[in-house]
Amino acid sequence: MTLPSPDGATPAMAQWFSLKAEHPEALLFFRMGDFYEMFFSDAEAAAGALDIALTTRGTHGDMPIPMCGVPVAAASAYLARLIRRGFRVAVAEQTEPPRKPGKGVAKGPLARAVVRLVTPGTLTEDELLEAGRQNLLVAVAAGAGRAPSTRGWGVAWIDISTGAFETASVPPDGLMDLLGRLDPAEILAAAGVELGDFDARRAPQATVPAAATARRRVAETFQVANLDAFGTFSDEEAVAAAMALDYVRRSQAGQMPRLAHPHAHENGGILGLDPATRASLDLLRTRDGSTEHTLLASVGRTVTAPGSRLLAEWIAAPLTRCAPIAARQDGWSWLIDEGGVRAALRQGLRGTPDIARALARLSLGRGLPRDAAAVRDGLSIARRIAAALADGRAAPPAPIADAMRHLGGGTALEERLKHALADSLPARVEDGGVIAAGFDPELDAERGLRDDSRRIIAGLQNDYAQQFGVASLKVRHHAQLGYVIEIPTAAAARVRDRTDLILRQGTASAARFATDELITLDRRIAEAGERAGTRERAIFATLVRDILAEPAVPAIAQALAVLDVLQSCADLAAGGLWCRPDITDDAAFALTACRHPVVEAALPRSERFTPNDCVLDPAQRVMLLTGPNMAGKSTFLRQNALAVILAQAGLPVPAKAARIGIVDRLFSRVGASDDLARGRSTFMVEMTETAAILNLAGPRSLVVVDEIGRGTATLDGLAIAWAVLEAMHSTLRCRSIFATHFHELAELAESLPRLSPHTMSVREWKGQVVFQHEVVPGAARRSWGVHVARLAGVPEPVVRRAARLLTGLEKERAVGARPLPLFAPADPPARPEAADTAGPEIPEAVRQMLDQLDPDALTPRGALDMVYALKKLMLEESRHLDHG
Ligand code: ADP
Repeated sequence: MTLPSPDGATPAMAQWFSLKAEHPEALLFFRMGDFYEMFFSDAEAAAGALDIALTTRGTHGDMPIPMCGVPVAAASAYLARLIRRGFRVAVAEQTEPPRKPGKGVAKGPLARAVVRLVTPGTLTEDELLEAGRQNLLVAVAAGAGRAPSTRGWGVAWIDISTGAFETASVPPDGLMDLLGRLDPAEILAAAGVELGDFDARRAPQATVPAAATARRRVAETFQVANLDAFGTFSDEEAVAAAMALDYVRRSQAGQMPRLAHPHAHENGGILGLDPATRASLDLLRTRDGSTEHTLLASVGRTVTAPGSRLLAEWIAAPLTRCAPIAARQDGWSWLIDEGGVRAALRQGLRGTPDIARALARLSLGRGLPRDAAAVRDGLSIARRIAAALADGRAAPPAPIADAMRHLGGGTALEERLKHALADSLPARVEDGGVIAAGFDPELDAERGLRDDSRRIIAGLQNDYAQQFGVASLKVRHHAQLGYVIEIPTAAAARVRDRTDLILRQGTASAARFATDELITLDRRIAEAGERAGTRERAIFATLVRDILAEPAVPAIAQALAVLDVLQSCADLAAGGLWCRPDITDDAAFALTACRHPVVEAALPRSERFTPNDCVLDPAQRVMLLTGPNMAGKSTFLRQNALAVILAQAGLPVPAKAARIGIVDRLFSRVGASDDLARGRSTFMVEMTETAAILNLAGPRSLVVVDEIGRGTATLDGLAIAWAVLEAMHSTLRCRSIFATHFHELAELAESLPRLSPHTMSVREWKGQVVFQHEVVPGAARRSWGVHVARLAGVPEPVVRRAARLLTGLEKERAVGARPLPLFAPADPPARPEAADTAGPEIPEAVRQMLDQLDPDALTPRGALDMVYALKKLMLEESRHLDHG
């Protein structure tokens, strides 16, 4: 919506126009007294979004000015709703104190300035944040390289609510994976950078500095001479880091929150998960955005918000190196053995405040008394937890020992805060009473003066009642008038002649008077109160400085979060239903009695989840899974993918036993990905996602796919599924589970030696289909589609008609059917570098001959004969196939 021209605006509106021009993309919260007012199109948009009344105020260019407002005291709740609706808000405060009326007072509106830009990625208030989620601002900068296909990316992310600041360089095709992992609240990127599905989170504008400027600016922010002080950063990482910092600075009107210095992630080290895989697995959120029925919800036993955030980070970024995974496992395994320590730890962590977020608010000058108390309480809880951990019988493993080293710090600060902060704290520093009595003599003196005067006043009521002969007289404090004597109107006549009473106000029921004595005491109370307030704010400010200067505080916050995640794992695994997986460097894959944690949790009490094994070792690395709909195929596919994520995140796995060779990339294509809203057909989406797998998966990857080829005609689909299966088996050589309703594909097992056909066991009972959810070797012989239709409530006449039609069709097909041309030569592998060292598949007869052959025992002549014989055999095999 366009704004009218500011010409001819009243002085107040002219100020509004100029502030609005600084932040055209944001709604302007324009502070007027106790309200934030919005005008023109801002007012119209906000009134709609907040469901509040739209009114008008004055006119501009002869037209009424649309206006709406929200009370300052309730602003957070309104801000939260606006941010959730995708708005940004610029908050303009009065930057000079309200003027008291009188002579010589400046005219015109009070000075105002935008003190903060509230955007999705720069939130600090608890009301605006999800306690258990990170809230990331992400900046993306393109690397050098002319063609987009060769250009890598520098990415930086900041969570100003906790002070985390990290960067990474990713290859050209790695951006979407990283954005999927970070799930940013807001993204800064130059206009030309394509963000795909993440485009809706793009910030309205982003300025991209040159690399040298960027390095200098980041270094300056952290007061070091050179960014290299913090590690090695590529140019694009430095640019992204500077973009993020600039945006934070701008959003906080120049103030900088406490930020950890930037930490550069080295390349790799993290399991590759593309956005389609994340979407299909419901890791942290389901597709509709809910946090229920997710992997995180099913494994999370954390008791603090920072712990829950860290657990989410671990799940979003599983590792690919054995040692750090084992370290995490050691941490929770120790806690399983040390049951007493675990119970004490869990108990101790309960009620631990969110230190990181409190620190962020304190560093932005937005700290509340309870934020300082959070640090005080956090420090003392940490000390108690350190003592509890020291009670373990066995020596604690690395992650716990590391945490313990930090926990005992900050004792001097803790003592100081304990003495300084009052027992019961007000909501805001301005309310007074934050600092405890006895902490600061000067503050105590001012408070004493104020309280003495109050005591004198309290005693005055009796004196006055006697003096004026009015027993019902009261001395009261009145918001505008100060201390007054209140006399009921009926008795007011009795004091009419008293010259020492100064009439302040007369109402229908009472008359209010002041005396010189009251005026003096009143002034003394006000002045002492003001001085006490000033003193209190100054003390609070030094406390905040002390807190921010203590390096132990953020370290303790981090240590407590790690301990919370470890105890969560131990709590989960202590019941014996979750195991510690064996993580190896080879291509092992064996899950024993594995379950799907989310489906299991959602089953009604009367039903038990059927656990299943899954073995994909090098001899049978491709599992072909057939079976009817509803038999549990997608559940099985997902549970194996989830097991890898949990295992490599260092978490327990829902299985009896698990042995997993590190997976470098995991692809999961399970469940209809409905992308029709974006104008791509289901089949197109399916093929795009299949293409990604074929181009990126390698021998260390795990691929679980469901129903490739379902989106097109049967023969087309079969052909595509077949070719993809062959490519996975022989070219990519990845571990995979390939679920399909093309039962014919099971015949390929004869030519693909590492293919192991499995099926979901199904029984028929009195004409009904019974799903046993059990994965057994073999192939499905029928589809049970008609049975499932009946189960779903398709009317009986239609089901019976379908059954009759099916019998007819099956007969026809049996007459004309030919077996699949199983041994037709496939094209040579598309990626020779990744090709199976065994080359293309060798016919069985040839293989047998080769097996029986002993080269050392051959004469040269015998060898030549053998070559002729082999060649002949090969030729026969392929002829046989062509005509077969
Ligand atoms: P498919 O992909 O074969 O159509 P699903 O995996 O969606 O089937 O499973 C259908 C339903 O069957 C699930 O919602 C769940 O209730 C149940 N189910 C699946 N696997 C199991 C299992 N192993 N044990 C118990 N119930 C299961």
